[in-house]
Amino acid sequence: MCHELNNITENFDKPKDECGVFGAFAPIDEIGKLTYYGLYALQHRGQESAGIVTGDGENFRIQKGLGLCNEVFDDKGLSELTGKVSIGHVRYSTSGDSSINNTQPLYISGRLGKLAFSHNGNLVNSKKLKYELEEEGTIFQTTTDSEILAHLIAKSKKDNIVDALKETIPEIKGSYSFLVVTPSKLIGIRDPNGIRPLSLGKIGEGYVLASETCAFDTIGARFVRDIDPGEMVVIDEQGIRSIDVMEEQKSSLCIFEYIYLSRPDSNLYGRNVHLVRKELGRQLAREYPVKADVVTGVPDSSLSAASGVSEELGISYEMGLIKNRYVGRTFIQPTQKLRELGVKLKLNPVNQTVDRQRLILVDDSIVRGTTSMKIVQMLKDAGAKEVHVLISSPPITHPCYLGIDTSSKGELIGAEKDTEGIREAIGADSLGFLSKEGMIKAVESIGGTKGGFCTACFDGDYPTKLVDIEWAGC
Ligand code: AMP
Repeated sequence: MCHELNNITENFDKPKDECGVFGAFAPIDEIGKLTYYGLYALQHRGQESAGIVTGDGENFRIQKGLGLCNEVFDDKGLSELTGKVSIGHVRYSTSGDSSINNTQPLYISGRLGKLAFSHNGNLVNSKKLKYELEEEGTIFQTTTDSEILAHLIAKSKKDNIVDALKETIPEIKGSYSFLVVTPSKLIGIRDPNGIRPLSLGKIGEGYVLASETCAFDTIGARFVRDIDPGEMVVIDEQGIRSIDVMEEQKSSLCIFEYIYLSRPDSNLYGRNVHLVRKELGRQLAREYPVKADVVTGVPDSSLSAASGVSEELGISYEMGLIKNRYVGRTFIQPTQKLRELGVKLKLNPVNQTVDRQRLILVDDSIVRGTTSMKIVQMLKDAGAKEVHVLISSPPITHPCYLGIDTSSKGELIGAEKDTEGIREAIGADSLGFLSKEGMIKAVESIGGTKGGFCTACFDGDYPTKLVDIEWAGC
């Protein structure tokens, strides 16, 4: 390896951040609360930390912390978040990385004044950039990609933030939907492949930017359009203007946003996520017309696909599993002893609907295979005669370097085993994965305003060069 830095490669194969961003430029009294409700709608994109920065033209007000939105903010604190411009962030990180230090928005003060950043995505040249910046004497205080952008901007000789961003954005590679805020300006930037989503909405005389359109519905904003790949929008007292900072490259919206990540009531490029999932289910059923008595889904993300399977096969849909909605990512795991006693915290079967039935169990994806394995066993313990597992996406064979937590290659059961091997491992009577062609056909059949998807987790075809990996292994 060229660069003898252990920490350069140690994170390549690790899960990445999935986050939600929200920003507003709106002449309203309670911009802190508006941002809070926007973030609340995006809570599914990250549950480990949340933060809001508001600007009143001269200064920032900042609140952030570890936990869910309703744990981080309270009524009194939100009423102190005044101003006319804001950005917020909810963060999903992975073990060891969820320190208070890394909570966003990140804020700095430099030659260009006060700035704050919220980022969804993952830079693929962050290790290289960080190494180069550190060689020049830069001291990093976080391990976030946002801080890399902040230092690049700090180095720029341009005399305003918009020009500094135009200069520095081409230096960063990977997936990014960035929100940058000054005390009087909101800026949104989307990477040239448009890997992570970012949409523009209108609220009264103001504008909002959000990772998903469900945030607009929550706060009463009207959807205007999606931000284009490679586009920067600047919103301030002069109104809104669009600048092409990067030439659009192959449009590659992460297809996993449709499969699992986004909320079913959101629309991405004009395609409703629930309807896409339902069609993925229909297509799956066409590819695997299994004979069964009942269709059921793994709550919540696969319920739309399960309804598609049920309609296509003409087999009734039943609630076979109930999820305890109050179990968060950080709940206290039962010990092996308690598990042996049958403690089931997260999911519980509805015995009366599964007992003596031939079941089709629909899930949206298999990553490590542990969820399917547990659920198949649980359904069999509850009396299911047969459990046929249908997955509304292809096997995940490659790690995601672009912002989704799909585990390291060694942990991906789809990289290690073929379908029969996975079926055996999860204990199902049969197993069917949606084909890649079927997946794309299903998504495209819903219409939409733009095509082209990142399918790298299913085929290893990454839309960007994996700069850090090539650099560290050179
Ligand atoms: P696994 O148990 O590792 O096979 O994970 C598959 C389950 O996790 C499925 O039920 C998915 O709905 C869910 N899932 C898929 N992708 C993710 C992700 N990036 N983060 C959290 N859960 C996920």
